[in-house]
Amino acid sequence: MLLAALSIAACTSEAATAPVETTTVTTSATAEPTTSVPTTSITPFPTSSDVALPTTPMFDPSYLDTPIGTCDTITDGAIGYRNETGRIAERYEQIGESAQGRPLWAEHWGTSDGPQVLVLGQVHGDECAPAWFVQAIRNRPPTSFGIWLVATVNPDGLAAHTRRTADEVDPNRDGFRLETPEARAVMAATERFRPVLTVHVHSPYQWIGAHNGGLATQAAQAMSDAVGWGPIPNAGRVGRDDLAFLWEGQERVIPGHPSVLIEFPAVAEAESPAPPDPAQKDVASVAVVADLAVTMRDALYAVMSAQ
Ligand SMILES: [Zn+2]
Repeated sequence: MLLAALSIAACTSEAATAPVETTTVTTSATAEPTTSVPTTSITPFPTSSDVALPTTPMFDPSYLDTPIGTCDTITDGAIGYRNETGRIAERYEQIGESAQGRPLWAEHWGTSDGPQVLVLGQVHGDECAPAWFVQAIRNRPPTSFGIWLVATVNPDGLAAHTRRTADEVDPNRDGFRLETPEARAVMAATERFRPVLTVHVHSPYQWIGAHNGGLATQAAQAMSDAVGWGPIPNAGRVGRDDLAFLWEGQERVIPGHPSVLIEFPAVAEAESPAPPDPAQKDVASVAVVADLAVTMRDALYAVMSAQ
């Protein structure tokens, strides 16, 4: 029965209803009611020496122009994860490499001084809607804080239009085991960039969640209010050694790290074709998702500018 529940959670949304195999504790004054910590032994987070990162800025110019996935085609010629804004980021760093050898890039936008936000534009390879949040940031970078933007954490899945990585692992259930190079790259980027907040961008459901309260709740609620989506739930916690969201893994890098989960509606029927109940999927037009992305970006910027 537990396995059945886990299976459903792993295939549906980012699982505000994920099973919690842990003991609930209060970790801080701002902790959300269901915040919990693992009660069993954990796999230590790999140190910097385990996850090699380049020591100097790197950039492959072809990254800006090359179509890198099916989202470019299934959205009827609309933008995908390519950078079609004509803007060049202030800096590019390679944070890792996918299982098939594709580089994982982080683009730095905004200021190097002040708080930094990590945005994971795509984790599941068959999710196209998050591309519009990526483009919204490129179109209007922040001016009073910095954003490290990873347009896609899962370029192999994007190329193949699969939710999972080329290793057939769901990268957003690999937060503790870190068996994929993609999840290890997220943790290495977290360790390297020391963000005050991470925004995890997904689809095709329509909700915003917060993890760890504080700035996460503030930003998530502001974004939800801006688009009229109402009260925000927890982003979800699995808390098992063998199954954990990336934001849970980030907590082992930066204790108490706040994260926001955005679930955009899909922009195409071909997006995220795998949920067990297709009726749960929300599909909207590219124009609607683009507007949502801009509105949420501006709400996020307003919260961060006030820090
Ligand atoms: Zn997803």
